[in-house]
Amino acid sequence: MKKTNFKLLLIILFVFLFFQSCNSVSKEKEYQKIDIALGTLCSIKIYTEKNANEAELILNGLFSELDRLENIFSANMENSLLGRINANAGIIPAQIPNELYEVLSKSIFFAEKTGGAFNPAIGAIVKLWNIAMDKGTPPDAVELKQALLKIDYKNIELNGTEVFLKEKGMSLDLGGIAKGYAADWSKNFLLKHGIKRGIIDLGGNVLVLGKKHDGSDWKVGIKNPIIGEPKIGIAYISLFDKTIVTSGNYERFFEYENNIYHHILSPETGYPVKNNLRAVTVIADSSMEADALSTSFFILGIEKSRTLIKSFPQVSAVFFTEDNSIFIIGKEIEGLNILDNRFHLKKQL
Ligand code: FAD
Ligand code: MG
Repeated sequence: MKKTNFKLLLIILFVFLFFQSCNSVSKEKEYQKIDIALGTLCSIKIYTEKNANEAELILNGLFSELDRLENIFSANMENSLLGRINANAGIIPAQIPNELYEVLSKSIFFAEKTGGAFNPAIGAIVKLWNIAMDKGTPPDAVELKQALLKIDYKNIELNGTEVFLKEKGMSLDLGGIAKGYAADWSKNFLLKHGIKRGIIDLGGNVLVLGKKHDGSDWKVGIKNPIIGEPKIGIAYISLFDKTIVTSGNYERFFEYENNIYHHILSPETGYPVKNNLRAVTVIADSSMEADALSTSFFILGIEKSRTLIKSFPQVSAVFFTEDNSIFIIGKEIEGLNILDNRFHLKKQL
C-alpha cells in the first residue's frame, strides 16, 4: 500500500473511531434503583447504552444478589447463615460458602493486624448494645463483663469449607466489613454484565466505577459528622475507580445522661470507643478493605493508625476530630475539597 493511501486510511479510521465513541457516549443513559438491602438504604446507578428493560434486569438481579448476601452475613436475622452459626456456637461446626469464607478470613486478618481492635467475634457485645439502643439506656455492667469473656476471635476455627465457634455464647458480627464485601461484589456483578460506569452506594459505603461519561472524575460527598446537625455534605472528594467508606459516631447512637453511646465498640472495655474522633473516611481500591480499615482506624485513633496504614500503600484515610480538624494519613489525596469553613485541614500531628 502506498504511504499516502495508508495515511488516508489511518485518518478515516481515526474519524470513524472518534464518531463511534461520541455516539456511544451520547447514547448512554442513567438508570437507578434504590431499595433497602443489607439492613440499610442502597442505591445503584448505572450508565449504559443498554435499553431500559436490560438495565432493569441487571439492577433487579443485583438487588436479588444483595438479598442473597444478606441471608448469609446478617447478624440480625435468626435464620441467616450467620444466625445459625451463632446459634450453634460451642455445639457443631457449619459448612460455609466461599463468600463467607472470604469475609471471615479477611476479618481474622484484620483482627490480627489491629491487635484485636477489629473483632469479628464481637457479636455478644453488639447484641447488648443493640438492645440498649432500643431502650435508650446503657446495658447492665455485669452482663457486659460476662459478654466480654465471649469475644475472643482466636476461638473462631476456620478452614476452607467450615467454621466453628469454639465457645457457647460466642457470636460473629460482620457489620464492620460485610457491606464493603457486598460493594466489591456488586462492582464485579456490574462488570460481568457489561456495565463500566456507575455508582454503588450501600448505606454510605460508596464505590465508583470508571469515570464520568465526559471523562471527568466523580465527586463523592462526605457527610457532616457533627451529631445533631443536618447530614449534608461538608466536603467532597473527586475520584474514579475507587471506593470511599466512612465510620463515625454520628449515625447510630443514643444519648443518656449527657453521654453519647455509639455503635463502634472497644473489645477491651465493651463500651463505645471514646476518643477525639467524629469520623474516619477511607479511600481505597477494595471496599471490603476500606470498610474494615475505617472501623479499625476509628477504634485505634490517629497515632496507632499511622502504623497500620503503612501496610496499605494505596490507602488514604481522612480523620475528622471533635475540634473540627481534618488530618490525612497514608497515600496523598489530590481531590479533597472542604465546603464547610468550620473544618480545617491540618498538617501532620
Ligand atoms: P462500621 O464502622 O463499618 O461498622 C460498625 C459496626 O461493626 C457496628 O455496628 C457493629 O456491627 C460492628 N462492630 C462494632 N465494634 C466492632 C469492632 N470492635 N470490631 C469489628 N466490628 C465491630 N442494621 C439494622 O439496624 N438492622 C438490620 O437488619 C441490619 N442488617 C444488616 C445486615 C447485614 C448483612 C449488614 C452488613 C449490616 C446490617 N445492618 C443492620 C447494619 C449493621 O448492624 C451495622 O450497624 C452496620 O453494618 C454498620 O456499618 P457502618 O458502615 O455504619 O459502620
Ligand atoms: Mg467498617
